[in-house]
Formats: sequence, structure tokens, C-alpha cells
Amino acid sequence: MANYYDRVGRIFDIQRFSIHDGPGIRTIVFLKGCYLRCRWCCNPESQEYKFQEMTMNGTTKTVGQDISVRDLMEELVKDEVYYRRSGGGITLSGGEAMAQPEFAEAIFRACHDRGFNTAIETTAFAERDVVARLIPHIDHVMMDIKHMDSAKHKAYTGQPNEKILDNARWIAENAHHLVIRVPVIPGFNDTPEEIAAIARFAESLPNVHELHLLPYHRLGTDKYTGLGREYTLSHLTPPTAAHMKMLKETAERESQKLTCHLRVQIGG
Ligand code: SF4
Repeated sequence: MANYYDRVGRIFDIQRFSIHDGPGIRTIVFLKGCYLRCRWCCNPESQEYKFQEMTMNGTTKTVGQDISVRDLMEELVKDEVYYRRSGGGITLSGGEAMAQPEFAEAIFRACHDRGFNTAIETTAFAERDVVARLIPHIDHVMMDIKHMDSAKHKAYTGQPNEKILDNARWIAENAHHLVIRVPVIPGFNDTPEEIAAIARFAESLPNVHELHLLPYHRLGTDKYTGLGREYTLSHLTPPTAAHMKMLKETAERESQKLTCHLRVQIGG
């Protein structure tokens, strides 16, 4: 067996039977570590690569597990029949899977050895050689574009957006399939102007036909308390259905002004 099965990486969760993270029924592997610090992040325990203690409902647990690709595959094959029947497979999420490129590549290779469809949820805040190394092994890329203004992007995520936008162009030209996703966050990017700017950018990417608008939610806020951190967006409420519909129509109108390639949907 190829030696990439021996590769060890750090995860913090495995979620089975997901239907929102790529085509079909999928198992999601959450890798630990992320370069961004999005203020709305619903998985704050994903951000630090190091092991952490998190207290939930009075119980403290260690977040993080080092696992080999061989042992991980033993978990992933359990739902093989569902992947095959539904056109599903394996999705790497996080955190940022591109922050552990050797491990991510090894998982994708092992999945393809077994005939599993591969997907990633990523912000692609990574060096180009990392992106170029991983993309050939991924069947379905779901990439976040959070804001077109770099200063505002940095204010809410801790990082500017130039590298992300650059990588988006490269991925659009080289990936098998790319979907652009936008977490819609009140006060950050939920105006028609901001969504229109992202839609124009997505429309300008070759081979991109889908834009998903993901409404802000408050799931995961108790994890901040569990980690001894403050959740700084507790004043926010999720956007209404009417507001999301208006933003969807805005993005569609913007697409129609250009080449009309984009199918816009609310949710993943
Ligand atoms: S990129 Fe994702 S995992 Fe990383 S901080 Fe932002 S929301 Fe959290």
C-alpha cells in the first residue's frame, strides 16, 4: 500500500451523513488549524492547530486528534454504500484543510484509490504551490469569497483578501468543479452592493456556474464560552428570508448584466 496511508494529521471531528457539503451523502472530516479568524466562525475550536480544552454542558473534552490516513479510511469506508448510491463521498472541511497540505493530499489520494468522490470547503488562503498541489486531487471545490474589500475582509477575518481572490482565479481555471460560497454576515457583507460585487467577481471566473449565499446563523456561539473566549457578534441576528431573497435577486440581476452564467441559491 502506498506510503501516504502512513501520513498523520490533526482533525477535530468527523461528521457522517451530511447532505449540505457537496453532492450526495457525504462524510465530513474537519481538520484542525486555520489561517483566518472570522468573527462569525461557528467552529472556533477549529482555528488553533494545537490541542485545546473545551467545556460544553459541564463536560470538558480535549479538542483535536492525531490520526493516520489508514485509520481515517477505516472510518470513511463505513458509509461507502451511501456514497455510491447518492453520488456522495468525502469532504474535507475545517478549519482550513489547505493548512495541512500533505495530510489533505494523502486523504484525497486514498479516497480516489477507493473510488470515493472528493470535495473541499476552503477559503484558499494558501500559497499557490499548496493550491496547485491539492486541486488535481479534488473533484468538487467549494470556496468562500467573503468580501471584495480587502480592508474590511481583514477587519472581520484577520487576513486581507488578495491571495484568496488570486487563488480563486487560478482554481477556476484548473479545478474540476468550483462553487463560490458567501457567508452572508449582517454588518459585514449583507448589502446589495457588497453581494453584487462578489457576484460580479464570481461571474468573471471561468467555469463557475454556481453562487451559494449562506445566511449567518448563531450555531456554535456556546463553543466560544466553552473555550473561554468572547463571541463578539452576539448583537447580530440572522438575516430574514426576505433579505436573503433580495440578495439572491441582486446577485442574479448582476449576473444577467454580464454573461448570465451564475445560478444563485440560498444555502449550501
Ligand atoms: S475560514 Fe472558516 S474555519 Fe477559518 S476562521 Fe473563518 S469560518 Fe472559521
